[in-house]
Amino acid sequence: YDGIFSRLAHKLRLGKPLERLVALNNINLAVYAGETVGVVGESGCGKTTLGRIAAQLLSPTGGDILFDGSPLASLPDAEAKRVRTSIQMVFQNPYASLNPRRRIGDTIVEAALAHKIIEPKEKRSFLKAMMNQVGLAPELAHRFPHELSGGQRQRVGIARALAVDPAIVVFDEAVAALDVSIQAQILMLLQKLRRQEEFTALFISHDLNVVRHISDRVAVLYLGKIVEIAPTKTMFKSAHHPYSQALLAEAPSLDTTKKKFAAIKGELPSPLNPPSGCHFHPRCPHAQEICANKVPPIQHLSEGHLSACHLGDAIPHIDANQPK
Ligand code: SF4
Repeated sequence: YDGIFSRLAHKLRLGKPLERLVALNNINLAVYAGETVGVVGESGCGKTTLGRIAAQLLSPTGGDILFDGSPLASLPDAEAKRVRTSIQMVFQNPYASLNPRRRIGDTIVEAALAHKIIEPKEKRSFLKAMMNQVGLAPELAHRFPHELSGGQRQRVGIARALAVDPAIVVFDEAVAALDVSIQAQILMLLQKLRRQEEFTALFISHDLNVVRHISDRVAVLYLGKIVEIAPTKTMFKSAHHPYSQALLAEAPSLDTTKKKFAAIKGELPSPLNPPSGCHFHPRCPHAQEICANKVPPIQHLSEGHLSACHLGDAIPHIDANQPK
């Protein structure tokens, strides 16, 4: 996706002019059929905006979103509608994303009926199959969202997304609101569904450990820019960008023998007023004079591994798998 999204943000104090917030800037991310790309970064780095643009819940103010090579903006209405249906989203808060007054069985089949993927007479068998696929007992179909646990509600959200047989599913912090044990169950379910259904996925998370178990490639986002992208194994074996290394340092690990890195310092700067040059320079332990003055270009390091840092090979790569 190549898009620039911006929105106007009100200043809290009255009388101040509106400011322009650039949530994503010069993002260029290709997602190939059948793969899962993890998108990681701190809150406020633009991950959710990227996911919503990919799912067409937001429109970019510039750039193009290409689907099968065609810019979505240039598609005829009927084709654009078909593409919109084939990109589904699973949200962080399943409770807020489900209609509290609708029984979950109706929620799951609603879109499949509306898009004529199934006939009304097929509803019962389709619902049973969908609930079975996500590990929900069929008798739960008559319940309302408040009668389910958080994990069950997220399974409903996943079933609802998969019911229209999507080509792409965007998971926006889909396990962040769940207990760790339930997170593990949902991640295992997603791995199983990926193998069975072969959908393409964008998996957005602030947690590198979560992304590690589900993604083929990982893109690291900082203040609206991709600063590093690599195959997942490469990212964990040879993280290059100092921000990626800092995220790895912060990712909790049960294995205390794993290498620890310098933790990230300071707060994420306001996207309303991002630092000059490399946006990461006020927090970077390797920052040089050039970093505050010039935007670092994205550089090719190895097969599929790109990083945006002025220091290139002068930054030691970090292997997150090595013991201290
Ligand atoms: Fe750090 Fe400079 Fe590299 Fe930015 S360009 S990550 S500030 S060393």
